Amino acid sequence: MSNEKNNPAEQTAAEQPRDFIRNIIAEDLASNKNDGRLATRFPPEPNGYLHIGHAKSICLNFGVAAEQGGVCHLRFDDTNPVKEENEFIDAIKADLHWLGFDWGDNEFFASNYFEQLYQWAMQLISAGKAYVDDLSGEEIRQLRGTLSEPGSNSPYRERSVAENLDLFERMRNGEFADGAKVLRAKIDMAAPNMNLRDPVMYRILHAHHHRTGDKWCIYPMYDFAHGQSDSIEKITHSICTLEFADHRPLYDWFIQQLGIFAPHQYEFARLNLGYTVMSKRKLHQLVADKHVCGWDDPRMPTLVGMRRRGYPAQAIRTFCERIGVGKSDSWIDMSVLEDCVREQLNETAPRAMAVINPLKVVLTDYPEGKVEMLDAPIHPQQPEMGRRQIPFSREIYIERDDFMMDPPKKFFRLGPEREVRLRYGYIIKCNEVIRNDAGEVVELRCSHDNATLGAAPQGRKVKGIIHWVSQAHALAVEVRQYDRLFNVASPGTNKDGVDFIDELNPGSRQILTCCYAEPALADATIGTAYQFERLGYYCADCDSDDKKLVFNQTVTLRDSWQKQK
Ligand code: ATP
Ligand code: MG
Repeated sequence: MSNEKNNPAEQTAAEQPRDFIRNIIAEDLASNKNDGRLATRFPPEPNGYLHIGHAKSICLNFGVAAEQGGVCHLRFDDTNPVKEENEFIDAIKADLHWLGFDWGDNEFFASNYFEQLYQWAMQLISAGKAYVDDLSGEEIRQLRGTLSEPGSNSPYRERSVAENLDLFERMRNGEFADGAKVLRAKIDMAAPNMNLRDPVMYRILHAHHHRTGDKWCIYPMYDFAHGQSDSIEKITHSICTLEFADHRPLYDWFIQQLGIFAPHQYEFARLNLGYTVMSKRKLHQLVADKHVCGWDDPRMPTLVGMRRRGYPAQAIRTFCERIGVGKSDSWIDMSVLEDCVREQLNETAPRAMAVINPLKVVLTDYPEGKVEMLDAPIHPQQPEMGRRQIPFSREIYIERDDFMMDPPKKFFRLGPEREVRLRYGYIIKCNEVIRNDAGEVVELRCSHDNATLGAAPQGRKVKGIIHWVSQAHALAVEVRQYDRLFNVASPGTNKDGVDFIDELNPGSRQILTCCYAEPALADATIGTAYQFERLGYYCADCDSDDKKLVFNQTVTLRDSWQKQK
């Protein structure tokens, strides 16, 4: 992780691994194309929260601009009035800042360009390059042809310029119902590229827009808005995902016909991550139908979800760097992301002890009422993080898994008549096992060896070390364990007719309400991930229903999930 800096804006081009887009940009700058200017943009549609796929696009667009001394605009692609909400705009901005990027004054909205786009549509009509069509959406689809057959001209295609100008103005004035007419570009109904078969530029929608209110009842389509917005903002490199490659000829056509500044569109492969979904429609459905507890549910692939889960922004940036930017679609295993999180937290997360599945241990030879403060580092490799004092007393909790009634030879933890070291503490020996009427082990009676606090004396070696929490001092907490949200690698794309909802993993969240942590965690900072020693990383979250501090499992210490497969 040598080339990582905490502030992505400080990264220079030399430190960043090259990819084909960075190469193109470096060459363009070297040849003084666009007067040596670099302007990129990140263009989210404000109809949902950002997810890890967006992070890939953000790290590329903002990253390359920062590396090369260019600018990256934030542009809300708000051309679709019915789906957009201010909640999403605020969330997107907060997520971008959290991820470590800033757009300064370069905040734009496609809706700011509605008047200009309208004027440009009139210009195309005047040039005989666009016409008003009365066909319905269905009829337009039918006449479009197929990949192997050309389409047919609409009967309205040869309307005069004057008639088209009049009709389009009346469309704007609200004289027609939704869907009654559209404005289409007049290109070529036989074009091999279906996107050039007289694509729709404007549709009628009597809908309230979050920024323009009721001013407009016609709205531009993505293809007519996007390139022109890029042009208005003098974007030099318009970077988008591969599915827009077939739209590039149309992107170029509009710009050429209008004779305006021509940005260049480049396409890269979108991120597909296993065992989750990233389509906003599907994410909306998960939230609306309460399959998860909101957009920020720690199981969601959203940035707000990952933040609550305890993923550091730096780990997400490292992940985006590691997967690189290429031209062919691929699936990335979730373990790649988790490795980045694990590596980052291993370096930064404060350590603590917590027992998530407690078993009571009484040290029968330890004085009642006695408390010793045992000394431990907050981070074993980072002495500057300081030390912590952990109270120790006669009654403690250990992890139920750390005891076995009839342990196999290789089990180095506790069993009847066996010894184990308590982390930072004594070696103890299990002398007696107490069971309830059902035969379950409910308590262990152990003795401790007074001479073994901290370092063991000569010849006094035990293999196992287990974590523990003093019962009298324990902080009761709730721990939420997480597993994959889905049972299959690519939900919703598998067998015929299987809905992605049916592929949800019913065991993706397990709530453990009876857990204990060392008392210092009472001051845990919400949003900070701790390493629970021997267990994994856990991020402090707000209170649970019964007012306990909650810890969300961030990631395990090792990639145990891979091994289970
Ligand atoms: P959806 O189709 O689910 O609505 P979208 O791609 O249309 O998602 P936008 O808000 O339009 O979502 O995306 C903003 C930007 O983020 C676009 O430039 C898009 O290419 C990019 N982006 C979205 N998803 C991914 C992904 N999985 N990998 C890389 N970039 C992505
Ligand atoms: Mg989109």
